[in-house]
Amino acid sequence: MANKDYYATLGVNKSASDDEIKSAYRQLAKKYHPDLNKTPEAAEKFKEINEAYSVLSDKQKRANYDQFGSADGPQGFGGGQGFSGFDSSEGFGGFEDIFNIFSNFGGRARSQQVREEGEDININLVISFAEAAFGCEKEVTVTRKERCDSCHGTGAKTDSDYVTCSECNGTGRVTYTQQTLFGMTRTVGTCRNCGGKGKIVKNKCPDCRGTGLKTVTAKIKVKIPAGIDNEQTLRIEGQGNQTASPNGIPGDLRISITVQPHSLLVRKGFDLYVDVYAPITTLMLGGKVEIPTLKGKQTIDVAPLTQSNTKYTLKGKGIKYLKGFGTGDLIVTLKGEMPKDIDKNTIKLIKDLQNSISEKAYPKTNNFKKKLGD
Ligand SMILES: [Zn+2]
Ligand SMILES: [Zn+2]
Repeated sequence: MANKDYYATLGVNKSASDDEIKSAYRQLAKKYHPDLNKTPEAAEKFKEINEAYSVLSDKQKRANYDQFGSADGPQGFGGGQGFSGFDSSEGFGGFEDIFNIFSNFGGRARSQQVREEGEDININLVISFAEAAFGCEKEVTVTRKERCDSCHGTGAKTDSDYVTCSECNGTGRVTYTQQTLFGMTRTVGTCRNCGGKGKIVKNKCPDCRGTGLKTVTAKIKVKIPAGIDNEQTLRIEGQGNQTASPNGIPGDLRISITVQPHSLLVRKGFDLYVDVYAPITTLMLGGKVEIPTLKGKQTIDVAPLTQSNTKYTLKGKGIKYLKGFGTGDLIVTLKGEMPKDIDKNTIKLIKDLQNSISEKAYPKTNNFKKKLGD
């Protein structure tokens, strides 16, 4: 086997310090990690980088390599042992793992105070238009995992029904020493023997079969804030699945809100829109027109000779802002409706009407005609 120049592989010189080697390795490993670099040469390059680093990061191996050109000392690369190669299915789980290993190199295995977390629960809730506008209180039914009352989550029948785990001495954490590409690495992890609980159950709690959890149908009162809109999600902290461990963090309850449409009012943001119809004669003569609002009917005054499609903005008659103070508006578009069916006598009246109104009284029509040309 030809001697490899591990220093050249990492791009450092022979007198490089441990930190320089580590830093060079980090950069190259990130650059050529096969999960990140899809070029065909990346895997081979990554293997070489790891091989170089496994030797140069180990004091003894580096000394042997410097002296004999082999990490194994004077015997050379006996038995074809050499480098075992890189297998992405083993050792490295992915990009994240590489940094876990880095942090262990630094001798500061991350403090692994991992608290168990319960899963979130997602449900859907349909509310009426008014309930969304004004807010409401709803009771929702949720099937979730709760800590077992009988064993308080321990999973044991009685307090004397479990023993301290011998693997981790009750700490739930174990330091694993592994032979890896980098030499020996120490990883602090969850104790596999007890699953991190620190205790082994001898006699299981009959109510939860040792899981420490039971499935419960809970009724939860939920306050729906005024102003919530369709397809928004409410997050109720801590009302999701619980954990067996009393130190665990329960998941959240996430409620996807569906707001039923209003028969007349259309919501856009916090404003409401409505098309209101009135006979064309009302628009001509003026009068009162009824309009819908969130709080029932009210009337608006329509001036004589009001054009069709006139808009009326009713300030503060929209939806209350979900956050902060204020309320949207209600925007009414008044549409004059033609009669669908009229008798001969009425047609005559309208003809009289037509004749009695001078052409000058229609400025928009005249302006339009002018622009249209002959
Ligand atoms: Zn139990
Ligand atoms: Zn254990």
